[in-house]
Amino acid sequence: MDKKQLFTPGPTEVPQETLLESAKPVIHHRKQVFKELFRETTENLKYVFASEKSDVHILSSTGTGAMEAAVLNFTSPGDSAAVIVSGKFGERWRDLCKSFDVNAEIIEYEWGDYCKPDDVRKVIKEKNIKAVFATLVETSTGTVNPIRELAEVTSQAGVLLVVDAVSGLGCDRLEMDKWDVDVVVSGSQKALMTPPGLGFVCVNSKAKDALQENKRKNYYWNLKKSQKSLGKMQTPYTSPVNLIKGLNNSLKMIISEGMEAVWGRHQKLSGGAQAGIEEMGLEIFSKSPAAGLTAVKIPSPDKIGESFTKHCEKKYGVVLAGGQAHLKGKIFRIAHMGYYDEMDVVKSLAAIEATLNDLGERNVLGCGVKAALEKFSGR
Ligand SMILES: *Cc1c(COP(=O)(O)O)cnc(C)c1O
Repeated sequence: MDKKQLFTPGPTEVPQETLLESAKPVIHHRKQVFKELFRETTENLKYVFASEKSDVHILSSTGTGAMEAAVLNFTSPGDSAAVIVSGKFGERWRDLCKSFDVNAEIIEYEWGDYCKPDDVRKVIKEKNIKAVFATLVETSTGTVNPIRELAEVTSQAGVLLVVDAVSGLGCDRLEMDKWDVDVVVSGSQKALMTPPGLGFVCVNSKAKDALQENKRKNYYWNLKKSQKSLGKMQTPYTSPVNLIKGLNNSLKMIISEGMEAVWGRHQKLSGGAQAGIEEMGLEIFSKSPAAGLTAVKIPSPDKIGESFTKHCEKKYGVVLAGGQAHLKGKIFRIAHMGYYDEMDVVKSLAAIEATLNDLGERNVLGCGVKAALEKFSGR
């Protein structure tokens, strides 16, 4: 039997009801029936972004498209931006800035480390910085960054804070209004429990003003145009209607659980995963582990390396992610973002133990599972 379960930090498992919603007949994006769906979906999204005052733009793209839209719409050529780089996705901000003629002041940390807001404060003081590009959860290393503290720095300085929360939104706490975060980008296929294909850019009032001053003439990724359409409960071009239907179902699930409970559940899942991993004698990679995924150093990487995730998928149907770039074969990543519960974490740990045993690395069968169950039981 070929039964697989995704434990990858995007795409993630999607609830069946969401898939079924997406399978319903196509509706027309200029008719009343769509406007009602769109109004409800954008309102529900605002709840997840913890923002009442923002505009949420829904884009037909993956998360990277939303990142590109943010760079294009909130910077002009020749502007300077501070870019926090401590993994693959910080590098993506850096590369996007370079592509669109933004002077990127790189604030760099070792992969696995997290951002120190004081470093950003210094750069803002010394240079004429228009915007700070940051990452809530650096998925390549399983690290959560202190966005709340960073937002204190940027609001004091009157600088825009643009946060990539593609993998963080809906698992690691992020409160746009309360923290004063200006722009947050995300995507459908991580904690929002929806298939890949939707990007989001959530824009607060400070950023709406910045948008009006933007000098670029981009055509498709044009949030000024999109803002006008939002007033009519539409997108400028054809909307990805079926993905939006599915998304709205998943958002309703999040709302009925409640945001605090959703954040709490992810905190609990990561606690269980970490306890299990440590009990197996393995090491957590990150200095500041995220709630939505756990990155783990592969023991004896020269021997096991990339065969670890391959074996785990082939033999146990547990699809883990490997490392990216120089971490290939050095770490594996277990996602528990979105549609995951305690028993899912237990299953992933069981498969990891079995894989370690099969590959002749160590016999810790049942150890991690026991530690996780104990952690979950709270006793
Ligand atoms: C997944 C992800 C993205 C976007 O990747 P896409 O493949 O374009 O969806 C961006 N940033 C982070 C932190 C991510 O985890």
